[in-house]
Amino acid sequence: MKILSVNAGSSSLKFTLFELPEKKELINGTFEKIGLNDSFYSIKINGEKTKKEASLKSHADAVNILIKELLENKVISSLEDLDGVGHRLVHGGNKFSKSVIINDEVLEAAEECIELAPIHNPANILGIRTFMKALPNVAQVAVFDTAFHQTMDKEDYLYGVPYEWYQKYGVRRYGFHGTSHRYVYKTICEELKNDKLKVINCHIGNGSSLCAIDSGKVLHTTMGFTPLAGVIMGTRSGDVDASIIPFIMKKENKTCEEVVNDLNKKSGLLGISGVSSDSRDIEDGIKEGNERCQLANDMLCKSVANYIAMYNNMLNGADVITFTAGLGENSILTREAIGNLISSLGVKIDKERNNVRGKMTLISSDDSSIPVYIVPTNEELMIAEDTYELIK
Ligand code: ADP
Repeated sequence: MKILSVNAGSSSLKFTLFELPEKKELINGTFEKIGLNDSFYSIKINGEKTKKEASLKSHADAVNILIKELLENKVISSLEDLDGVGHRLVHGGNKFSKSVIINDEVLEAAEECIELAPIHNPANILGIRTFMKALPNVAQVAVFDTAFHQTMDKEDYLYGVPYEWYQKYGVRRYGFHGTSHRYVYKTICEELKNDKLKVINCHIGNGSSLCAIDSGKVLHTTMGFTPLAGVIMGTRSGDVDASIIPFIMKKENKTCEEVVNDLNKKSGLLGISGVSSDSRDIEDGIKEGNERCQLANDMLCKSVANYIAMYNNMLNGADVITFTAGLGENSILTREAIGNLISSLGVKIDKERNNVRGKMTLISSDDSSIPVYIVPTNEELMIAEDTYELIK
């Protein structure tokens, strides 16, 4: 089957076409700056990437060009060759605990979640509607970032705030990156031939979250009501005392939204280092002796290590620790530093094994109390596989 995996943002649209169940990637691409003057797109096929300028006034323009490219590159010979389209949806609220085939009811429920994800969900839904119009005979599936975390227990997803906030407004921990956490869990279970593993997965990228999973059930995850919570990230603060917000509002004469924007976009590695949100720049800064780059990285590693220790306790001893996403897969320095910070658990990172990027690898030494692996994530494939399972 040929399944298209789609991630529609407010001004971008990313896609990958897979052949399933072979997991073969046929073509992928990104449309950028949709609705702006200098819009363009890039396509990668057979390892070759080409960038093209195009007037993309709307998502519909992007979808029309996408279909044209699939036909011209002969990855499909007609629209009938497309068996399904899987869409990333950031927020499914309490309503969705797994992926679903999209119908009017699903779209309505996804629209009700817009107030929980006002930037992402409208763009995701616009993408779905555009594909439904362009490909009315092809099954469309929604895959939610929040769904995997719906197995958390109430005592773990509630905040210590008035209970009515949860009842009336849905204030609770939802968690994000669920598709990535689920993919990594599934992959490490396959690798170790055990589907009852207790795993601490560290998805450390620009946005980061950890997840404690026991036999497929999520016990806890670090992101919360929004993706702002948890560990220190590229530009997000992670956990802070909420009283900082009114304090800074007064000191800097800012609105609440402006301060929350600072916490989302001007904090984390960027805020602490004053240099960059990108960990490659931070690593360069460390090599040049920049103390604030070192401080930013130390803070990030410590916040991850502390959550690993907490999750090891929640799991009553983890079987495996996994690292994934941009930093988790590629930053040798960060993995080693985090490993050193959890040595009290008996974890030992092997320097030589850890000297690797972006590959499924065991990076702990043989006498480590908990084995540590790099497991490259693939959210696009997970979306396509869910679609395949639902429509086959
Ligand atoms: P997003 O959350 O946007 O999906 P990614 O998972 O792609 O982000 O992660 C982006 C982060 O990964 C950036 O901080 C980037 O610097 C980091 N990264 C990518 N490659 C490397 C590398 N070779 N060494 C260190 N950090 C890296």
